[in-house]
Amino acid sequence: MSYLLKQASVVTLDPPAIEPADLRIEAGRVVERGTNLDANEGDEVLDLPGKLILPGLVCAHTHLYSALARGMPTPPRTPSNFKEILELVWWRLDRALDEETIYWSAIAGALDAARAGATCLFDHHASPSHILGSLNIVREAIEEVGLRAVLCYEVTDRGGTQEREKGLDENLALLSWVRDAQAQESATAPTLVRGMVGAHASFTLSDESLDYCAELMKVFDAGLHIHVAEDRWDVLDARSRYKLGVVERLAKHDALNGRTILAHGTHLSDEDIQIARSAGVWFAHNPRSNMNNQVGYAPVAKFGNRIVLGTDGIGADMFEEAHCAFFKTRDAKVSLGADDWLRVLANNQRLASEAFGSDLRGLRARSTADLIVLDYQSPTPLTDENLAWHLVFGMSSASVESVMVNGRFVIRNRQYAVDDQTLYARARVASEKLWSRLRTF
Ligand SMILES: [Zn+2]
Repeated sequence: MSYLLKQASVVTLDPPAIEPADLRIEAGRVVERGTNLDANEGDEVLDLPGKLILPGLVCAHTHLYSALARGMPTPPRTPSNFKEILELVWWRLDRALDEETIYWSAIAGALDAARAGATCLFDHHASPSHILGSLNIVREAIEEVGLRAVLCYEVTDRGGTQEREKGLDENLALLSWVRDAQAQESATAPTLVRGMVGAHASFTLSDESLDYCAELMKVFDAGLHIHVAEDRWDVLDARSRYKLGVVERLAKHDALNGRTILAHGTHLSDEDIQIARSAGVWFAHNPRSNMNNQVGYAPVAKFGNRIVLGTDGIGADMFEEAHCAFFKTRDAKVSLGADDWLRVLANNQRLASEAFGSDLRGLRARSTADLIVLDYQSPTPLTDENLAWHLVFGMSSASVESVMVNGRFVIRNRQYAVDDQTLYARARVASEKLWSRLRTF
């Protein structure tokens, strides 16, 4: 199947550029970019006058397992701090997940992500009552909706050694699956899934567990995906039990590399930030989650140019996350502006490009065809120079009209390729089951 997308303006984020251009899409790639391209035999032509085409947005840190948490029963008592938020809310929810509800969480999360224009998700999964095989279930759900994802399982000692071992095995199984799938894939049907080594957070990981994670990273040349210093608790724990900073501890265990994602970093010391930056990691900032959990504001201006944006499970609307990131910097009088947040969204695409070894941010000839079509009507001119201001004050996921991943429409003219009505209905049934199980934990 080949498409010719005509008469739209093609937007790239870094450097900001808007250019009228036609795109010919074939076999998952942009094969030609130019003006007034003629249709080849077999091209399906889509006329898109006045529309914008952007490279697909990427969420650098999320938890699809929390997609059925929306409106769930309140915890037995109101959490009074971050540790209690984990214990009373998230660690009860993830333990209540079974085979069926893992699948429907991932389906619901992926449907929402697609509608918001997110084509690639870096997911951090936990389901301690059903660990082995869980990433396979998440993968199948992602494939059903048609998105691209980088998966991992959160290794942790919070449930004891047996659960820790299963968590490690699950990462190993996924990374092995990806390696085999890549060896067998064809150019026209590549696998849209990659793996990382997942780990919950320093305060729930023993030295031994960190060593095992580091070993997996080495064997598979993979990055670590871990929460760091989300709350002060993580920092105090590393300091009191190990006499180390959180990142210093990861470095000591050889668990940092240039593919690593450190989520939050809210309470990182300058020394820890320096160690992380020297290792070339990515810092995933999640402003809405940080505000919601009242854990404080990350020192984003100190993260250098390796910042990416995540949602931490609050959907995957990267327009909304970028808006909040921008307004938070304004409120806190931090010296990052609209241009910086546009660049951060481009960093997300760079992160995904590195993970998949293909260009997911350029929409040039030979780029991978992950793109979104926006019906963005502005009362003011849109230019290369003011694109960032349109991002923070105008653009939103409500403008997303079509979503393409690897040359295939996931959403076309606001219609999903899958039967979304049925899938949402089945997700609602699964959520009721999940919520009733939750009451027993
Ligand atoms: Zn998280």
